[in-house]
Amino acid sequence: MRILLTNDDGIASPALAQLRRVLSPFGRVITIAPDRNQSAMSQALTLSRPLRIHELEEDVYSVDGTPTDCVLVAFHGKILEPPDLVVSGINHGPNMGEDVFYSGTVAAAIEGVLQGVPGIAASLVTRQQTDFREAADTVGNVVRQVLSRGLMRRLLLNINVPHRPAAELKGVQITRLGTRVYEDTLVRKVDPRGRDYYWVGGEDPVWQPHEGTDFQSVHDGFVSVTPMQLELTDQALRADMQGWGLTP
Ligand code: MN
Repeated sequence: MRILLTNDDGIASPALAQLRRVLSPFGRVITIAPDRNQSAMSQALTLSRPLRIHELEEDVYSVDGTPTDCVLVAFHGKILEPPDLVVSGINHGPNMGEDVFYSGTVAAAIEGVLQGVPGIAASLVTRQQTDFREAADTVGNVVRQVLSRGLMRRLLLNINVPHRPAAELKGVQITRLGTRVYEDTLVRKVDPRGRDYYWVGGEDPVWQPHEGTDFQSVHDGFVSVTPMQLELTDQALRADMQGWGLTP
């Protein structure tokens, strides 16, 4: 099995070596990651300039593009056989609830699914300095159990690991995406020349404490595993709107 490993925090993320360590027993791990931090790039593609790919060591490449560019390079770059599985992470910080729409980590896993293979995104819920070692052990354990059930074509998992010693994890919960409480997400300040500037994202988000959500599980000390799908159609509204009689 060939496993594509990527990470929106960039090729310098210490999580990459830790995930290579735990994934290599399952197959050949090929790392292709952005050459710098590309967090919150979502599913962005680089269309207006060429992409350059650098081989840093055997099976390790950097790309001057987005996480999704990296997945496309893996499938269509003709530098290797297409992967059978995409693993994205471990992100330095959570990717829960509506944040999956902004996440480069989750987007890379989604791109794997769009290319026809399973995608697994993993995030560690902390902003503190960390070596990702125990989180990688945890992710590796979950991936091993998932792979033992066979590769499911549309499988898309979003894993969030609480930041605590592995021995203190309460277990794994299969969750749904939670809901953020939106607060100030654009901070206005004044620069040294007296002009306003804006910085996207303020404090870490607050979450609605709903049972069964990714946020609640992580908060309670469980590893959260959310099975996702790409079908966004609102079927109930679609059925209702059939009767609206909209005309062009
Ligand atoms: Mn990131």
